[in-house]
Amino acid sequence: MNSERLSALRQSFARLFGQTPRLFRAPGRVNLIGEHTDYNDGFVMPVAISRSTVIAASPRDDRQLHMSSLDFREASGGNVRVSSLDDPRPARAWTDYITGVAAMLERRGLRLRGANLLVASDIPAGAGLSSSAALEMASGWALLHTAGQEMDRTELALAGQEAEHAFVGTLCGIMDQYISANGRAGQATCLDCRSLSAEQLQLPEGFDIVICNTGVKHELASSEYNVRRRECQQGVELLRRFLPRIQNLRDVSLPDFERYRDALPEVIQRRCRHVITENQRVLRTREALREGHWNKLSELLAASHQSLRMDYEVSCAELDLMVDLAQRAPGFLAGRMTGGGFGGCTVNLVERQRSEAFVKAVLTGYNRRTGGNCGIQAEAYVVASASGVCALPDPSPQPELVEQIPGEHCQ
Ligand code: ADP
Ligand code: MG
Repeated sequence: MNSERLSALRQSFARLFGQTPRLFRAPGRVNLIGEHTDYNDGFVMPVAISRSTVIAASPRDDRQLHMSSLDFREASGGNVRVSSLDDPRPARAWTDYITGVAAMLERRGLRLRGANLLVASDIPAGAGLSSSAALEMASGWALLHTAGQEMDRTELALAGQEAEHAFVGTLCGIMDQYISANGRAGQATCLDCRSLSAEQLQLPEGFDIVICNTGVKHELASSEYNVRRRECQQGVELLRRFLPRIQNLRDVSLPDFERYRDALPEVIQRRCRHVITENQRVLRTREALREGHWNKLSELLAASHQSLRMDYEVSCAELDLMVDLAQRAPGFLAGRMTGGGFGGCTVNLVERQRSEAFVKAVLTGYNRRTGGNCGIQAEAYVVASASGVCALPDPSPQPELVEQIPGEHCQ
């Protein structure tokens, strides 16, 4: 987020609450590879990105949270929503992410203080870049600091996931919160969603991450997501007749799958094959990044897209078109659809000097092909990898005198 927006946030906070705030920032994320593997106990490879949510915060003397967002103006008069730490409950509003995190932190035995909180973000909400996890991690960090408390980053991520389950009703995996808390600039994280063990991997230098938003979100998205989860579970139950020790598709090797696949209905076979091969692709991508074999990324991401399209059937015409255009655009190294599917975004690694030309080629081609369909607003975000949640240093007329906060790895 640029410095003008940060000073606007500070000024709005001062006007709204009459105090000087501290600022806390948490990044959005994009998943490089490992799609629909998280709820199968598998592997994912997210990157925290340079689009983020920033929360301005100051302590209160009571146990209330007074919350406002520069991006979500309340339709009904007052701009501040209030919840109580002593009686946190869902309000069916954006503030549930914050109240929920506060409740989950207190459930862990931490005593928080009331706080004034003002949110600003440059992560497009609902586009699949996890503005919700960024909101949870930024507010969690703000509430911890305001109360003079500390917590392990992964524990905070788990609290955020629980908040999303219990207060918002979204049964998300742990990937989004994990990477928003733990991301590192210049690196992707290979995360084992079962054990939460993680390996940091160097991303190729000289490349931008270009996220192309198809501008569509088909209605099917959430119902089909639940159908896919059930189909995977069905696959596990059928395969368990031959492989009694498996708990999840994560535990099925490709040779075992090939041996027993004929016992599964055709659709279930394809769903299982996607998950099993996608886990392997994540591990092969890890190898490629460890060894700096960037060219292999192209093949692996393309294979992931094909598998999501043909076996898992969660792509759509717009995503296929975006991927197809990207593969022929200047500077392209690797790309595929990212997120749950049925619309949303593609992720691409693009040579930095040519990312502008890349964006132009993809958006022009896309608009030409979807032309006349005026509802579609495609966009592209050129981002860098970024570090996880942190407190921002207070503004100073002599920035060189600002000391780094120990233990922080904010950029
Ligand atoms: P995603 O996480 O993919 O962006 P979600 O539907 O999970 O999409 O989360 C989006 C929701 O998060 C919004 O509808 C809103 O409730 C909340 N949210 C995100 N950003 C902000 C913001 N800047 N201010 C207030 N609420 C926000
Ligand atoms: Mg979300």
